[in-house]
Parts: sequence; structure tokens; C-alpha cells
Amino acid sequence: AVVVAVPAPAAAALLSAEAPAAAAELRAVEYASMALITLAYRRSDADAALPDGSGFLVPPVDGRTIKASTFASRKWGWIADQDPDVTVLRTSVGRYSETEVLGRADADLVDVSRHDLREAVGLTAAPVETRVTRWTDGLPQYPVGHHARVARIRAHVGELPGLAVCGALYDGVGIPACVASAYAAVDQLGGDLTAVRELTAAPVRSLHGGAGE
Ligand SMILES: Cc1cc2nc3c(=O)[nH]c(=O)nc-3n(C[C@H](O)[C@H](O)[C@H](O)COP(=O)(O)OP(=O)(O)OC[C@H]3O[C@@H](n4cnc5c(N)ncnc54)[C@H](O)[C@@H]3O)c2cc1C
Repeated sequence: AVVVAVPAPAAAALLSAEAPAAAAELRAVEYASMALITLAYRRSDADAALPDGSGFLVPPVDGRTIKASTFASRKWGWIADQDPDVTVLRTSVGRYSETEVLGRADADLVDVSRHDLREAVGLTAAPVETRVTRWTDGLPQYPVGHHARVARIRAHVGELPGLAVCGALYDGVGIPACVASAYAAVDQLGGDLTAVRELTAAPVRSLHGGAGE
């Protein structure tokens, strides 16, 4: 049995000989790139400025460059435990088809993150450490018609006994959705199509843990 759990371009290449119709559908799946900007502050500089919660999302209509910020030290205990005097924040940039911002130098991405954090939450302190991590083609996109495409991919793959697919490109990018698609793929290999049918028909309703962590 084989479970193909790789991003769409790699899955298309792997399946092109055995499942050409599935491969053609997989080649049509588009991805967005993004960059993460990690900013470490002295806790005494940052904590008072941050609102309650573990971060915020920025809708495009706000006209900011960052699309989200995670207060990593609040969200993850293991990060807070690393150093009690440090607060770690993360911002992300790069919406679908927004390539210009991803071409900017690391220092510019840090600057724009600091600017947008100042505007959003009033954080004016300078970080003591920064790091930019680029995720090229990291996020599969779900345009209108995506679920129908996933259903077609699964139908084509289902014609080959012992073959199943799973991963972020099918039912949701969040870890719970990826895990759910993996369980469904294994059930499918054992002849039980219940989970894969439920996910394909209504991926959000089928996810017990929500769409992301
Ligand atoms: C920057 C970023 C932040 C995120 N944050 C969150 C978050 O906070 N919460 C959340 O729930 N989700 C988050 N996500 C989404 C989630 O992490 C991903 O959607 C998920 O990890 C994808 O899992 P996957 O198994 O489908 O793919 P991957 O984890 O990408 O695994 C695919 C694997 O296939 C391998 N591979 C590729 N090509 C081949 C090949 N030809 N042959 C063999 N192997 C190959 C790769 O090396 C990789 O190991 C985030 C995603 C990104 C990019």
C-alpha cells in the first residue's frame, strides 16, 4: 500500500504514470508563499504593550503588510520557558499572489513588522533579536471549486487499490485537517471509505479539532 503525502507538484510527478487524471488535477493546485518574521523582545519592554490573547489576524482591508501576528511566548509554554526575560512575537507576510513583499530584504521585513505592530498594538520597543524564515510555496490555496477538485482526485486515486493521498492540499491546511486526512487515507487502504467520503463532502464539519491549532 502507498499513501502519497507530499505537496501537489510532487504528488503529480509521482502519480503521472499510474494516475494521469489525478496528476492533471494536482498540477492545477496553486500555492502561496510566505515569510515569518520572529522578533524577540525583553519581556519588560513588550508585555505591557501586548493585548490579552495569543495574537491577531489582519484582514487585507486594513491595508497593512503583515497578515497576522502570533504572541509566541503566550501561545506556547515551551517558548516562554526558554527564557523568562524574553517575549517572542511572530509576524507573517505574503498573501496569495503578493510576491513583491516576499522579495524584500530581511531587514525590510523586520522594519515593516515593527511598523505594523506599532500601529496595531502600540509596541514601540526594539527587538533584541530577529529572524526571517521564508516558506516558498508553503500554503495550498483553496479557490472556488477546490472541494470538487479534491473529490475528483480521490475518485481517480480510488480506482487504484492500495493507493491513497493525504495532506494539506486536500481538506484544510491546519494540522488537525492534515491529521484527519491521514487517518482517512489509512482507513481507505483498509477498505473503509467512510472518513474519506465525509471529509470530501464536508471537510470543515468533519474536523473535530477545528481547522487549525
Ligand atoms: C509558515 C507556516 C506556519 C503554519 N502555522 C500553522 C499553525 O500554527 N497551525 C496549524 O495548524 N497549521 C499551520 N500551518 C499549516 C501546516 O503546518 C501545514 O499545512 C502542514 O504541516 C502540512 O502538512 P503536510 O503533511 O501536508 O505537508 P508537509 O509537512 O509539507 O510534508 C510534506 C513532506 O513531503 C516531502 N516531500 C516533498 N516532495 C517529496 C518527494 N518528491 N518525495 C518524497 N517526499 C517529498 C517534504 O519534504 C515534506 O516532508 C503553517 C504552515 C506554514 C507554511
